[in-house]
Amino acid sequence: MLGFDDKVVFVSGGNRGIGAAIVERLEDLGAQVAYNYRSSPGEAGSLPIQANVTNRDEMEAAIERVEDELGPIFGVVCNAGITRDALASKMDYADWDRVVDINLTGAWNTVRPALPNMYERNEGALVFISSIVGERGNIGQANYAAAKGGLLSLSKTLALEGARYGVRSNVVAPGFVETDMLKPIPDKVKDKIRAQIPLRRFGKPDEIAWAVTFLLSPEAGGFTTGETVAVNGGHHT
Ligand code: NDP
Repeated sequence: MLGFDDKVVFVSGGNRGIGAAIVERLEDLGAQVAYNYRSSPGEAGSLPIQANVTNRDEMEAAIERVEDELGPIFGVVCNAGITRDALASKMDYADWDRVVDINLTGAWNTVRPALPNMYERNEGALVFISSIVGERGNIGQANYAAAKGGLLSLSKTLALEGARYGVRSNVVAPGFVETDMLKPIPDKVKDKIRAQIPLRRFGKPDEIAWAVTFLLSPEAGGFTTGETVAVNGGHHT
């Protein structure tokens, strides 16, 4: 129904959290889904590949392998990400580098090897997982906010460049979602954040996955490009 039958999609960081939910949802909707991971593979998906998004050779090899083993890649979802929080005046340079390398440059390393073939085939869709923090900034997350904000302008540029080749590019900007990423946040702080969210709860990974499937789908999202979909329980300001 959403046009995913026989379509191949690659998801970065698809072994757990939001990425795993995206892999499962897309597979459920008929896509063949490959993904990469750093630590250990997840349970869903047709083709798990161990590859670090910061390593260009590994990512080029991963994309080539997906096309060899599953077929032409239709969709790419850049999901892999980390946080290393500190106030800007105290942030280690290494934590800046690490977060920008994985969240921003890692997304570039994921899409760059896939683009030439997608353009040649004149079809495809990219989705970048940014964050509410990339839209509005956040205390203690200068590195993460800069990286996630960078994804917004990267996607808009790829939407403009890709349009003539039939390749769309969009962003999903989640608010707070129940995954391992929230584990370091103390319960008291989590309660305070929840109280600021109009829907009074954190999101579920599958609620992000549905937004991704809409944007990727040639049927549902075929006229949507250069857009950002916020999935945050109303937590906009
Ligand atoms: P998790 O910490 O649960 O998962 C992070 C994923 O990224 C894992 O699959 C991890 O793989 C992968 N990853 C991290 N570094 C690398 C790397 N160098 N190379 C390859 N894979 C890597 O986080 P979430 O599922 O919550 O986050 C997914 C995305 O959603 C991230 O981009 C995050 O910034 C974004 N997001 C999350 C929000 C939340 O509240 N949870 C809110 C807004 C955005 P491995 O297990 O192998 O390390």
